[in-house]
Amino acid sequence: MSTDVVARLKQMAGDPDRIWIRGGATYAELLAETGRLANFLGALGLRKGDRLLVQVEKCAAVLSLYLACLRAGVVFLPVNPGYTPSETAHFLGDAEPAVAVADPGRVAGLEGLGARVIALPDLLAQAMGQGADFPDPAHGPDDLAAILYTSGTTGRSKGVMLSRENLASNAETLVGLWRFTADDVLLHVLPVFHTHGLFVATNCVLYAGASMIFHRAFQPAAVLADLPQATVMMGVPTFYTRLLADPALTREACAGMRLFISGSAPLSPATHAEWQARTGHAILERYGMTETNMITSNPCDGARRAGTVGMPLPGVEVRITGPEGVLPTGEAGSIEVRGPNVFKGYWRLPDKTAEDFRDGWFVTGDLGAFDADGYLSILGRAKDLVITGGLNVYPAEVEAALDDLPGVAASAVIGVPHPDFGEAVVACVVAAPGAGLAEEAIRTALRDRLAGFKIPKRVLVLDDLPRNAMGKVQKAELRRSHAGLFQ
Ligand code: ATP
Ligand code: MG
Repeated sequence: MSTDVVARLKQMAGDPDRIWIRGGATYAELLAETGRLANFLGALGLRKGDRLLVQVEKCAAVLSLYLACLRAGVVFLPVNPGYTPSETAHFLGDAEPAVAVADPGRVAGLEGLGARVIALPDLLAQAMGQGADFPDPAHGPDDLAAILYTSGTTGRSKGVMLSRENLASNAETLVGLWRFTADDVLLHVLPVFHTHGLFVATNCVLYAGASMIFHRAFQPAAVLADLPQATVMMGVPTFYTRLLADPALTREACAGMRLFISGSAPLSPATHAEWQARTGHAILERYGMTETNMITSNPCDGARRAGTVGMPLPGVEVRITGPEGVLPTGEAGSIEVRGPNVFKGYWRLPDKTAEDFRDGWFVTGDLGAFDADGYLSILGRAKDLVITGGLNVYPAEVEAALDDLPGVAASAVIGVPHPDFGEAVVACVVAAPGAGLAEEAIRTALRDRLAGFKIPKRVLVLDDLPRNAMGKVQKAELRRSHAGLFQ
């Protein structure tokens, strides 16, 4: 069993000088603040298992609330502040939180949906009247810690029930694997309503007793200004491409950095190579999901292979299956996961939960293959697989070839209904600044690299790809927009 998050927090708070957030709280102050907040949650009437919905712009108080919920046994339920009130209605109706915390400008909207709402500044002010000592009740490793909603890339967001042990085991493993120490300073630029910024980033810092520089949003100039004070950064691929567009990103700017980590969406091998050439750092790509926390990672010390997400984490098992069962190394199939990191089920979706577990293994919905050295490549989501004339085309393979062509800044490959082929491979590409792209030239350039059936029947040059808050390309939207291409 792993050390619980709250136990770890108390351990770290024992050192009065240990800094949690640069220019903000020490760990001792954080412990006191979470004590006051936990007492206040009790005063609000929240009991173990009740949900606290938190929908606010990124700020350090969200992390304090997360930890206060863990102390009180209240289920932490963060929601993207970008959602409109009508989108938020789904989460309120589904999760039935006892209380919702919102920025002042959102209170009326949420109240209109029938929620009991408290504005974040009021909550923080009232909690100041509470004692810092909180009599922590006993918690079990399987107790529910949080409900996190998935990003909604493939459909409606699902509530994911995560236990204390899910979070603790993954944090302990990642700290060891990524060599986090108390001397690390993490540049925190990710949102805190998603597993990447909330659990991966924050728990690695907390379990190592490290510090963070906390930015309220990702701004390339602000990141470049703070890189010399940091040792680690975690980001989504779009952060890396946006930083590459800034000439101030140099080897010198990154001289004090120990590690750059990428995840949540595929990092193109082209971006990986460009980053290495410019900064001297090989980005470490890892793979995870809201449902499973982190699953695989490239090594800290060994070779970090572009276009792969590395090996299964210690204690986490990964297998590749086809319709007939487990597949041998090298063959592409469905990625399935088992381990202490895997969630307890979808909130109020027992049928979906049953459907996505096969003999104790969680079926991720992603397709992949292991190479002979044990590195996993993600080939795309099962829902995005293109079947053209009876042949499977893995979008990731075509996207990697496209991203390698001069002038291509980003690409997304989709299947579009076609009268002869069932589905046709279609590429959507975005040009690099100043570059011009021509459909036929791209198709011709791909002929050297891909078998004929994988060559896109059409290449659409777009101004931008539709992406969600985590920088994930929304392929369902692309498919909808171009559904009539061959009709
Ligand atoms: P939804 O489940 O609601 O459709 P989502 O799957 O995007 O949304 P998340 O849990 O945020 O929600 O994302 C997990 C998914 O992100 C994985 O299943 C995988 O498809 C993708 N992903 C994460 N890391 C990587 C990576 N390094 N490379 C490729 N894909 C990745
Ligand atoms: Mg998903």
